[in-house]
Amino acid sequence: TNNSGSANAIPFNPQLCTLSRETNELVSSFKYQNTVIDTDPSTGAVRGLSPREINYNFKVDLSVPEKVGVLLVGFGGNNGSTLLASILANRQKMVFNNKEGPQRANFFGSMTQSSTMKLGVDVKGNDVFVPFNSVLPMADPTEFVVDGWDINNANLFEAMQRGHVLEYDLQMKLKSQMENIVPMKSVYYPDFIALNQFDRANNCINATQGGEGFSTAQKRKDLEQIRKDIRHFKATNKLDKVIVLWTANTERCVDIIPSVNDSADSLLKAIEDNHEEIAPSTIFAAASILEGVPYINGSPQNTFVPGLIDLAERHDVLIAGDDFKSGQTKLKSVLMQFLVDAGIKPVSIASYNHLGNNDGKNLSSQRQFRSKEISKSSVIDDCIQSNKILYNDHKDKSKVNHCIVIKYLPAVGDSKVAMDEYYSELMLGGHNRISIHNVCEDSLLAAPLIIDLLVMTEFFSRIKYQKIEDGAPPSDKFSDFYPILTFLSYWLKAPLTRKGFQPINSLNRQRLALENFLRLLIGLPPNDELRFEERLV
Ligand code: NAD
Repeated sequence: TNNSGSANAIPFNPQLCTLSRETNELVSSFKYQNTVIDTDPSTGAVRGLSPREINYNFKVDLSVPEKVGVLLVGFGGNNGSTLLASILANRQKMVFNNKEGPQRANFFGSMTQSSTMKLGVDVKGNDVFVPFNSVLPMADPTEFVVDGWDINNANLFEAMQRGHVLEYDLQMKLKSQMENIVPMKSVYYPDFIALNQFDRANNCINATQGGEGFSTAQKRKDLEQIRKDIRHFKATNKLDKVIVLWTANTERCVDIIPSVNDSADSLLKAIEDNHEEIAPSTIFAAASILEGVPYINGSPQNTFVPGLIDLAERHDVLIAGDDFKSGQTKLKSVLMQFLVDAGIKPVSIASYNHLGNNDGKNLSSQRQFRSKEISKSSVIDDCIQSNKILYNDHKDKSKVNHCIVIKYLPAVGDSKVAMDEYYSELMLGGHNRISIHNVCEDSLLAAPLIIDLLVMTEFFSRIKYQKIEDGAPPSDKFSDFYPILTFLSYWLKAPLTRKGFQPINSLNRQRLALENFLRLLIGLPPNDELRFEERLV
């Protein structure tokens, strides 16, 4: 059905959807079907199964806000400056030269901007694909208003230059627009990022008088200043919505301590008391949540301690993390599933990286490397748990030897090199070895993911749902999503997950969830690839 004439002229299934022209909201009904499996706790054998159905209504506000603001923590870093450059270059449809000739600005690597999804089939039964961001109205990232904080005072042109990410001609074309932008002053507590970053810290709200040291005894004041910055950014730019995203250096993980960060109240008190386990990222996340602004963690540290999750639940604010899934891990979450689903048993994965950007310099310090090691390691867990034929309780049969090495090699700059060896067991004692050499242009992979995280966070903030209980009278009451936005796991290495649930790491499963969710919002059934047009006569 083509509902041309509807507010956004989007097609939807009128049997399952209704459009309110008054509010410009699309309401769709969806029967969620799943199967509850009864297993024997001692053997794991399936004893029975019962289909389960739950009826939901989903409501999407089709009006994309005119002005969406983005605040980056670590604005002057490689990702921050590349993100701003990509938005400006695309907004102005820039053409610049490299040694291959003229290049047009684009958003390759962004799923929302540069990928398609299957909508259905044509009359002959052949697949029809449409741009991912055309299914429902989504924010245009070239319209984002971008600002942010950095502990370093380089302007965004200098930041782009020192990043060595973008072509010289593009840098020069962007110079006049970026050299006047200086990041806002940030919060720096030296204990959390590597000591080798100390010289960079010349733009901090907690610098002591004389500028030589940094106070860690004004954490409540720091929190209030960041809250003020968020409010000021929103008001001066007349923004409808703001999203805060951490793309600053990887911090060490914090200890989770009872009565310090295990509940919202204890966390707020720990900030008041200047507790040593309150990191700068805790301050930014708490400030965002208290301002009702979604917060995304693009680095691996455990910012989302139980106290912060509790705070997000209390204020009903969307949060997502941790750590962008850009290069090596993205490939791992595809390859691991391919091998295990093929019935092949990976027994070891050796993952080496060397990189020469400032992220690599920070990660050359043990405690920050440890945060990354944890987030990189967890990515194979769900695959292992999914297959008890390959991985079971017999001696040494339940594990993959998984080692992660990261070395700082300044010469390679932002061109991070990832070398992986997957060593697997085949039938009858045979072995298979896959070796991968992957040059990840780090920030050119990460910036499009940041675009996706922002576009999708804004999109999900316009959706509400209601559960239809059997026999209950119709109601106008719709709820927001649960604050931990696991739909964003596609872009995140170690998906933060609701208590009691296991993270899903497999890239294909993550993408399937996103596609099917978009489909149900316009009244289409989940994609099943049965292709009966072809397979049945
Ligand atoms: P970068 O070192 O170039 O940039 C980080 C910036 O953060 C720097 O400008 C630094 O001055 C600033 N900073 C440090 N502490 C700060 C604070 N408390 N407040 C504000 N600014 C602060 O690093 P990058 O390459 O842009 O990567 C950023 C983060 O993203 C890193 O933690 C990295 O591990 C993570 N990440 C990157 C990728 C990728 O680039 N492909 C993938 C996954 C995760």
